[in-house]
Amino acid sequence: MSGTNQRIDGKRLWDSLMAMAEIGATPKGGVRRLTLTDVDRRGRQRFTEWCEALGLTVRVDAIGNMFARREGRDPSRKPVLFGSHLDSQPSGGKFDGALGVLAGLEAMRTLHDLNVVTEAPLELVNWTDEEGSRFGHSLMGSGVWTGVYALEKAYGLKDIDGVSVSEALDGIGYKGREKAAPFPADAYFELHIEQGPILENEGRQIGIVTGAQAQVWWDAVCTGRDSHAGTTPPSARRDALVCAARIVDLVDRMMRARGEDGRGTVGFMQVLPNSRNVIPGEVRFSVEFRHPDTAEVERLAAQFPGEAGAIARDCGIGLELTELFRYPHQPFDPACVDLVRQAAAKLGYSAREIVSGAGHDAVYVSRVVPTAMIFTPCKDGLSHNELESILPEEAEAGAQVLFEAVVARANRTL
Ligand SMILES: [Zn+2]
Repeated sequence: MSGTNQRIDGKRLWDSLMAMAEIGATPKGGVRRLTLTDVDRRGRQRFTEWCEALGLTVRVDAIGNMFARREGRDPSRKPVLFGSHLDSQPSGGKFDGALGVLAGLEAMRTLHDLNVVTEAPLELVNWTDEEGSRFGHSLMGSGVWTGVYALEKAYGLKDIDGVSVSEALDGIGYKGREKAAPFPADAYFELHIEQGPILENEGRQIGIVTGAQAQVWWDAVCTGRDSHAGTTPPSARRDALVCAARIVDLVDRMMRARGEDGRGTVGFMQVLPNSRNVIPGEVRFSVEFRHPDTAEVERLAAQFPGEAGAIARDCGIGLELTELFRYPHQPFDPACVDLVRQAAAKLGYSAREIVSGAGHDAVYVSRVVPTAMIFTPCKDGLSHNELESILPEEAEAGAQVLFEAVVARANRTL
Protein backbone atom coordinates (compact mmCIF):
# COMPACT_ATOMS: atom_id res chain seq x y z
CA MET A 1 0.00 0.00 0.00
CA SER A 2 1.48 3.37 -0.91
CA GLY A 3 -0.92 6.06 -2.08
CA THR A 4 -4.20 5.14 -0.46
CA ASN A 5 -7.88 5.45 -1.17
CA GLN A 6 -8.45 5.22 2.52
CA ARG A 7 -10.34 8.05 4.10
CA ILE A 8 -9.97 9.39 7.56
CA ASP A 9 -13.19 10.02 9.49
CA GLY A 10 -13.79 13.77 9.46
CA LYS A 11 -16.61 13.62 11.97
CA ARG A 12 -14.60 11.60 14.45
CA LEU A 13 -11.71 14.07 14.08
CA TRP A 14 -14.06 17.00 14.72
CA ASP A 15 -15.60 15.29 17.76
CA SER A 16 -12.12 14.73 19.19
CA LEU A 17 -11.17 18.37 18.59
CA MET A 18 -14.32 19.43 20.44
CA ALA A 19 -13.71 16.95 23.26
CA MET A 20 -10.13 18.21 23.71
CA ALA A 21 -11.41 21.81 23.65
CA GLU A 22 -13.61 21.06 26.67
CA ILE A 23 -10.41 20.79 28.70
CA GLY A 24 -9.59 24.38 29.61
CA ALA A 25 -12.62 25.77 27.74
CA THR A 26 -13.14 29.53 28.15
CA PRO A 27 -16.50 31.37 28.15
CA LYS A 28 -15.76 32.99 24.77
CA GLY A 29 -15.31 29.63 23.07
CA GLY A 30 -11.55 29.43 23.29
CA VAL A 31 -9.10 27.37 25.32
CA ARG A 32 -6.76 28.13 28.19
CA ARG A 33 -4.50 25.08 28.50
CA LEU A 34 -1.24 26.52 29.75
CA THR A 35 1.70 24.20 29.62
CA LEU A 36 2.41 21.92 32.59
CA THR A 37 -0.68 23.01 34.53
CA ASP A 38 -3.35 20.69 35.81
CA VAL A 39 -5.42 21.54 32.73
CA ASP A 40 -2.51 20.46 30.51
CA ARG A 41 -2.26 17.26 32.57
CA ARG A 42 -5.91 16.51 31.87
CA GLY A 43 -5.39 17.10 28.14
CA ARG A 44 -2.37 14.79 28.16
CA GLN A 45 -4.37 12.22 30.10
CA ARG A 46 -7.20 12.23 27.56
CA PHE A 47 -4.67 12.00 24.72
CA THR A 48 -2.99 9.02 26.43
CA GLU A 49 -6.29 7.22 26.91
CA TRP A 50 -7.18 7.70 23.24
CA CYS A 51 -3.77 6.41 22.15
CA GLU A 52 -3.80 3.41 24.47
CA ALA A 53 -7.27 2.45 23.25
CA LEU A 54 -5.60 1.86 19.87
CA GLY A 55 -2.84 -0.25 21.39
CA LEU A 56 -0.22 2.49 20.98
CA THR A 57 2.65 2.64 23.46
CA VAL A 58 3.08 6.09 24.98
CA ARG A 59 6.54 7.21 26.12
CA VAL A 60 7.38 10.46 27.89
CA ASP A 61 10.78 12.10 27.81
CA ALA A 62 12.57 14.24 30.40
CA ILE A 63 10.96 17.49 29.18
CA GLY A 64 7.49 15.93 28.99
CA ASN A 65 7.32 15.37 25.22
CA MET A 66 4.98 12.45 24.50
CA PHE A 67 5.52 9.84 21.77
CA ALA A 68 2.72 7.36 20.95
CA ARG A 69 4.15 4.50 18.89
CA ARG A 70 2.51 2.13 16.44
CA GLU A 71 4.81 -0.67 15.34
CA GLY A 72 5.57 -1.21 11.66
CA ARG A 73 6.12 -4.42 9.74
CA ASP A 74 9.88 -3.89 9.53
CA PRO A 75 11.38 -3.41 13.01
CA SER A 76 14.69 -2.21 11.53
CA ARG A 77 13.11 0.90 10.04
CA LYS A 78 13.20 4.30 11.67
CA PRO A 79 9.82 5.68 12.72
CA VAL A 80 7.90 8.36 10.86
CA LEU A 81 6.97 11.09 13.35
CA PHE A 82 4.01 13.46 13.18
CA GLY A 83 2.17 15.67 15.65
CA SER A 84 2.13 19.16 17.15
CA HIS A 85 1.26 20.54 20.62
CA LEU A 86 -1.67 20.44 23.03
CA ASP A 87 -0.75 23.48 25.13
CA SER A 88 -2.38 26.82 24.35
CA GLN A 89 -1.98 30.55 24.84
CA PRO A 90 -3.67 32.03 27.96
CA SER A 91 -6.61 33.00 25.76
CA GLY A 92 -6.00 30.69 22.84
CA GLY A 93 -8.14 28.90 20.30
CA LYS A 94 -9.30 25.32 19.94
CA PHE A 95 -7.17 24.45 16.92
CA ASP A 96 -3.68 25.93 17.29
CA GLY A 97 -1.60 22.79 17.96
CA ALA A 98 -4.53 20.53 18.83
CA LEU A 99 -5.38 20.10 15.15
CA GLY A 100 -1.96 18.60 14.37
CA VAL A 101 -2.04 16.21 17.32
CA LEU A 102 -5.64 15.08 16.84
CA ALA A 103 -5.32 14.76 13.06
CA GLY A 104 -2.37 12.50 13.83
CA LEU A 105 -4.56 10.53 16.23
CA GLU A 106 -7.21 10.26 13.50
CA ALA A 107 -4.54 8.85 11.15
CA MET A 108 -3.67 6.24 13.78
CA ARG A 109 -7.36 5.41 14.29
CA THR A 110 -7.92 5.02 10.55
CA LEU A 111 -5.01 2.59 10.22
CA HIS A 112 -6.31 0.72 13.25
CA ASP A 113 -9.83 0.43 11.78
CA LEU A 114 -8.45 -0.76 8.47
CA ASN A 115 -6.09 -3.14 10.19
CA VAL A 116 -3.23 -1.78 8.12
CA VAL A 117 0.40 -2.13 9.20
CA THR A 118 2.85 0.30 7.61
CA GLU A 119 6.41 -0.76 6.79
CA ALA A 120 8.03 1.74 9.15
CA PRO A 121 6.78 2.36 12.70
CA LEU A 122 4.74 5.52 13.32
CA GLU A 123 5.04 7.88 16.28
CA LEU A 124 2.53 10.57 17.13
CA VAL A 125 4.12 13.42 19.13
CA ASN A 126 2.77 15.96 21.59
CA TRP A 127 5.57 18.53 22.14
CA THR A 128 5.74 20.26 25.54
CA ASP A 129 5.25 24.03 25.82
CA GLU A 130 5.16 25.16 22.24
CA GLU A 131 3.54 28.45 23.17
CA GLY A 132 6.08 29.82 25.64
CA SER A 133 3.50 31.93 27.43
CA ARG A 134 4.04 30.47 30.90
CA PHE A 135 7.84 30.17 31.09
CA GLY A 136 8.73 32.74 28.44
CA HIS A 137 10.44 30.36 26.03
CA SER A 138 8.43 29.10 23.08
CA LEU A 139 9.13 25.75 21.37
CA MET A 140 10.61 24.44 24.61
CA GLY A 141 9.95 20.72 24.19
CA SER A 142 11.09 20.51 20.60
CA GLY A 143 13.95 22.92 21.39
CA VAL A 144 15.29 20.64 24.13
CA TRP A 145 14.70 17.51 22.07
CA THR A 146 16.68 18.91 19.14
CA GLY A 147 19.48 20.28 21.34
CA VAL A 148 18.71 23.98 20.70
CA TYR A 149 18.14 24.48 24.47
CA ALA A 150 19.97 22.65 27.24
CA LEU A 151 17.66 20.54 29.41
CA GLU A 152 19.05 21.97 32.66
CA LYS A 153 18.50 25.51 31.44
CA ALA A 154 14.91 24.72 30.50
CA TYR A 155 14.35 23.05 33.92
CA GLY A 156 15.44 26.27 35.63
CA LEU A 157 13.02 28.60 33.82
CA LYS A 158 10.34 29.95 36.16
CA ASP A 159 6.80 31.16 35.71
CA ILE A 160 5.43 34.35 37.24
CA ASP A 161 4.77 32.52 40.55
CA GLY A 162 8.34 31.24 40.78
CA VAL A 163 7.48 27.65 39.81
CA SER A 164 10.24 26.10 37.70
CA VAL A 165 9.75 23.91 34.64
CA SER A 166 11.34 21.04 36.58
CA GLU A 167 8.87 21.46 39.47
CA ALA A 168 5.92 21.85 37.10
CA LEU A 169 6.87 18.64 35.25
CA ASP A 170 7.10 16.77 38.55
CA GLY A 171 3.87 18.40 39.69
CA ILE A 172 1.81 16.94 36.86
CA GLY A 173 3.79 13.69 36.72
CA TYR A 174 5.22 14.23 33.25
CA LYS A 175 8.98 14.29 33.83
CA GLY A 176 9.50 11.15 31.83
CA ARG A 177 12.27 8.57 31.96
CA GLU A 178 13.22 8.82 28.31
CA LYS A 179 16.16 11.05 27.40
CA ALA A 180 15.07 14.35 25.79
CA ALA A 181 17.27 13.97 22.74
CA PRO A 182 16.64 13.11 19.12
CA PHE A 183 16.41 9.42 18.31
CA PRO A 184 16.79 8.22 14.73
CA ALA A 185 13.61 9.14 12.86
CA ASP A 186 12.81 8.90 9.18
CA ALA A 187 10.69 12.05 8.87
CA TYR A 188 8.46 14.50 10.74
CA PHE A 189 5.16 15.90 9.47
CA GLU A 190 3.14 18.62 11.19
CA LEU A 191 -0.33 19.84 10.29
CA HIS A 192 -1.15 23.30 11.66
CA ILE A 193 -3.61 26.11 11.03
CA GLU A 194 -1.98 28.84 8.96
CA GLN A 195 -2.53 31.56 11.61
CA GLY A 196 -2.55 34.04 8.73
CA PRO A 197 -4.95 35.08 5.97
CA ILE A 198 -3.27 33.91 2.76
CA LEU A 199 -5.02 30.55 2.18
CA GLU A 200 -8.42 31.93 3.10
CA ASN A 201 -8.02 34.99 0.85
CA GLU A 202 -7.10 32.80 -2.10
CA GLY A 203 -9.72 30.15 -1.36
CA ARG A 204 -7.12 27.37 -1.04
CA GLN A 205 -7.62 24.30 1.12
CA ILE A 206 -4.01 23.29 1.68
CA GLY A 207 -0.73 25.12 2.22
CA ILE A 208 2.34 23.16 1.19
CA VAL A 209 4.84 24.67 3.62
CA THR A 210 8.28 24.87 2.05
CA GLY A 211 10.07 26.31 5.07
CA ALA A 212 10.06 28.99 7.73
CA GLN A 213 11.03 32.65 7.58
CA ALA A 214 14.36 34.06 8.67
CA GLN A 215 14.04 36.13 11.86
CA VAL A 216 15.97 38.54 14.03
CA TRP A 217 14.76 39.60 17.52
CA TRP A 218 15.98 42.28 19.95
CA ASP A 219 15.22 43.54 23.44
CA ALA A 220 15.42 47.34 23.48
CA VAL A 221 15.70 49.79 26.37
CA CYS A 222 15.38 53.56 25.94
CA THR A 223 16.68 55.53 28.92
CA GLY A 224 15.87 59.19 29.46
CA ARG A 225 14.87 60.98 32.65
CA ASP A 226 11.66 60.94 34.69
CA SER A 227 10.44 64.46 35.23
CA HIS A 228 7.29 66.47 35.90
CA ALA A 229 4.88 66.66 32.97
CA GLY A 230 3.69 70.14 33.87
CA THR A 231 6.92 71.91 34.72
CA THR A 232 9.48 70.51 32.26
CA PRO A 233 9.81 72.59 29.07
CA PRO A 234 10.69 70.93 25.74
CA SER A 235 14.37 71.83 25.96
CA ALA A 236 14.73 70.03 29.29
CA ARG A 237 12.80 66.88 28.40
CA ARG A 238 14.45 63.52 27.92
CA ASP A 239 11.34 61.53 27.05
CA ALA A 240 12.13 57.84 26.54
CA LEU A 241 8.66 57.11 25.14
CA VAL A 242 8.92 59.70 22.37
CA CYS A 243 12.18 58.07 21.34
CA ALA A 244 10.62 54.59 21.50
CA ALA A 245 7.65 55.79 19.42
CA ARG A 246 10.01 57.04 16.71
CA ILE A 247 11.78 53.67 16.73
CA VAL A 248 8.42 51.88 16.42
CA ASP A 249 7.78 54.02 13.35
CA LEU A 250 11.25 53.10 12.03
CA VAL A 251 10.44 49.38 12.41
CA ASP A 252 7.22 49.85 10.49
CA ARG A 253 8.92 51.85 7.72
CA MET A 254 11.72 49.29 7.37
CA MET A 255 9.11 46.54 7.12
CA ARG A 256 6.98 48.33 4.54
CA ALA A 257 10.03 49.02 2.41
CA ARG A 258 10.16 45.22 1.87
CA GLY A 259 6.67 45.02 0.35
CA GLU A 260 4.22 42.24 1.24
CA ASP A 261 6.97 39.84 2.31
CA GLY A 262 8.20 42.22 5.02
CA ARG A 263 7.40 41.65 8.70
CA GLY A 264 8.45 44.02 11.46
CA THR A 265 6.82 44.28 14.88
CA VAL A 266 7.10 45.92 18.27
CA GLY A 267 4.63 43.80 20.21
CA PHE A 268 5.73 44.38 23.79
CA MET A 269 6.35 47.66 25.60
CA GLN A 270 6.76 48.68 29.23
CA VAL A 271 6.66 52.37 30.06
CA LEU A 272 8.24 53.49 33.33
CA PRO A 273 7.06 54.86 35.64
CA ASN A 274 3.79 54.72 33.61
CA SER A 275 2.17 57.63 35.36
CA ARG A 276 0.12 60.19 33.45
CA ASN A 277 1.88 63.25 34.80
CA VAL A 278 5.43 61.95 34.63
CA ILE A 279 7.59 62.14 31.49
CA PRO A 280 8.64 58.52 30.92
CA GLY A 281 12.25 57.97 31.91
CA GLU A 282 12.54 54.41 30.67
CA VAL A 283 10.85 52.29 28.03
CA ARG A 284 11.51 48.60 27.45
CA PHE A 285 10.26 46.99 24.26
CA SER A 286 10.71 44.16 21.79
CA VAL A 287 11.69 44.46 18.14
CA GLU A 288 11.54 41.71 15.55
CA PHE A 289 11.86 41.39 11.80
CA ARG A 290 11.07 38.37 9.64
CA HIS A 291 11.44 37.67 5.93
CA PRO A 292 11.47 34.54 3.75
CA ASP A 293 14.90 35.58 2.43
CA THR A 294 17.82 35.23 4.86
CA ALA A 295 19.78 37.95 3.04
CA GLU A 296 16.96 40.44 3.65
CA VAL A 297 16.98 39.68 7.39
CA GLU A 298 20.75 40.10 7.42
CA ARG A 299 20.32 43.52 5.81
CA LEU A 300 17.66 44.46 8.39
CA ALA A 301 19.91 43.23 11.19
CA ALA A 302 22.75 45.39 9.89
CA GLN A 303 20.63 48.48 9.23
CA PHE A 304 18.28 48.67 12.21
CA PRO A 305 20.73 49.24 15.13
CA GLY A 306 22.43 52.15 13.33
CA GLU A 307 19.20 53.90 12.37
CA ALA A 308 17.62 53.33 15.77
CA GLY A 309 20.80 54.64 17.41
CA ALA A 310 20.66 57.81 15.30
CA ILE A 311 17.05 58.41 16.40
CA ALA A 312 18.04 57.94 20.04
CA ARG A 313 20.93 60.41 19.70
CA ASP A 314 18.61 62.97 18.15
CA CYS A 315 16.26 62.53 21.09
CA GLY A 316 19.06 62.72 23.65
CA ILE A 317 18.10 59.25 24.88
CA GLY A 318 20.25 56.23 25.68
CA LEU A 319 19.45 53.13 23.63
CA GLU A 320 20.51 49.63 24.55
CA LEU A 321 19.78 46.88 22.03
CA THR A 322 20.33 43.21 22.87
CA GLU A 323 20.02 40.81 19.97
CA LEU A 324 18.20 37.71 21.26
CA PHE A 325 18.59 35.51 18.22
CA ARG A 326 18.90 35.46 14.48
CA TYR A 327 17.70 32.47 12.46
CA PRO A 328 18.23 31.94 8.76
CA HIS A 329 15.38 30.84 6.52
CA GLN A 330 14.83 27.18 7.41
CA PRO A 331 13.90 25.18 4.32
CA PHE A 332 12.00 21.95 4.86
CA ASP A 333 13.03 18.64 3.33
CA PRO A 334 12.25 18.63 -0.42
CA ALA A 335 11.24 14.95 -0.49
CA CYS A 336 8.86 15.36 2.47
CA VAL A 337 7.44 18.58 1.02
CA ASP A 338 6.88 16.71 -2.22
CA LEU A 339 4.82 14.04 -0.43
CA VAL A 340 2.54 16.79 0.86
CA ARG A 341 2.30 18.28 -2.64
CA GLN A 342 1.47 14.88 -4.16
CA ALA A 343 -1.12 14.10 -1.50
CA ALA A 344 -2.92 17.40 -2.05
CA ALA A 345 -2.88 16.90 -5.83
CA LYS A 346 -4.10 13.33 -5.62
CA LEU A 347 -6.97 14.32 -3.37
CA GLY A 348 -7.92 17.18 -5.68
CA TYR A 349 -7.48 19.90 -3.06
CA SER A 350 -6.57 23.40 -4.17
CA ALA A 351 -3.15 24.10 -2.75
CA ARG A 352 -0.30 26.58 -2.87
CA GLU A 353 3.24 26.70 -1.57
CA ILE A 354 3.69 28.92 1.46
CA VAL A 355 6.48 29.96 3.83
CA SER A 356 5.56 29.69 7.50
CA GLY A 357 5.33 33.09 9.11
CA ALA A 358 5.18 31.68 12.62
CA GLY A 359 7.66 29.56 14.54
CA HIS A 360 6.61 25.92 14.91
CA ASP A 361 8.03 22.79 16.53
CA ALA A 362 8.64 21.59 12.96
CA VAL A 363 11.19 24.37 12.47
CA TYR A 364 13.43 22.98 15.22
CA VAL A 365 12.72 19.35 14.36
CA SER A 366 13.77 20.05 10.76
CA ARG A 367 17.31 20.65 12.01
CA VAL A 368 17.66 16.96 12.86
CA VAL A 369 14.92 15.08 10.99
CA PRO A 370 13.65 15.53 7.40
CA THR A 371 10.51 17.59 7.90
CA ALA A 372 7.49 19.09 6.15
CA MET A 373 4.40 20.97 7.26
CA ILE A 374 0.83 21.24 6.04
CA PHE A 375 -1.27 24.36 6.62
CA THR A 376 -5.03 24.66 6.63
CA PRO A 377 -6.91 27.98 6.45
CA CYS A 378 -8.37 29.60 9.55
CA LYS A 379 -11.14 32.18 9.63
CA ASP A 380 -9.88 35.74 9.05
CA GLY A 381 -6.35 34.45 9.63
CA LEU A 382 -7.08 34.82 13.33
CA SER A 383 -5.10 32.82 15.91
CA HIS A 384 -3.80 33.23 19.48
CA ASN A 385 -7.37 34.35 20.04
CA GLU A 386 -10.39 32.64 21.59
CA LEU A 387 -12.34 33.28 18.40
CA GLU A 388 -9.90 31.26 16.28
CA SER A 389 -12.03 29.07 14.06
CA ILE A 390 -11.85 26.58 11.20
CA LEU A 391 -14.45 24.55 9.33
CA PRO A 392 -14.82 20.79 9.86
CA GLU A 393 -14.13 20.18 6.15
CA GLU A 394 -10.90 22.19 6.41
CA ALA A 395 -9.75 20.06 9.33
CA GLU A 396 -10.68 16.92 7.40
CA ALA A 397 -8.77 17.99 4.26
CA GLY A 398 -5.64 18.77 6.27
CA ALA A 399 -5.87 15.49 8.17
CA GLN A 400 -6.36 13.51 4.96
CA VAL A 401 -3.23 15.09 3.44
CA LEU A 402 -1.31 14.34 6.64
CA PHE A 403 -2.51 10.74 6.54
CA GLU A 404 -1.48 10.27 2.90
CA ALA A 405 1.95 11.85 3.37
CA VAL A 406 2.72 9.86 6.53
CA VAL A 407 1.61 6.53 5.05
CA ALA A 408 3.49 7.16 1.80
CA ARG A 409 6.69 7.99 3.71
CA ALA A 410 6.32 4.97 6.02
CA ASN A 411 5.81 2.64 3.04
CA ARG A 412 8.47 4.11 0.77
CA THR A 413 10.99 1.79 -0.79
CA LEU A 414 14.40 2.32 0.75
ZN1 LIG B 1 0.79 26.19 17.39
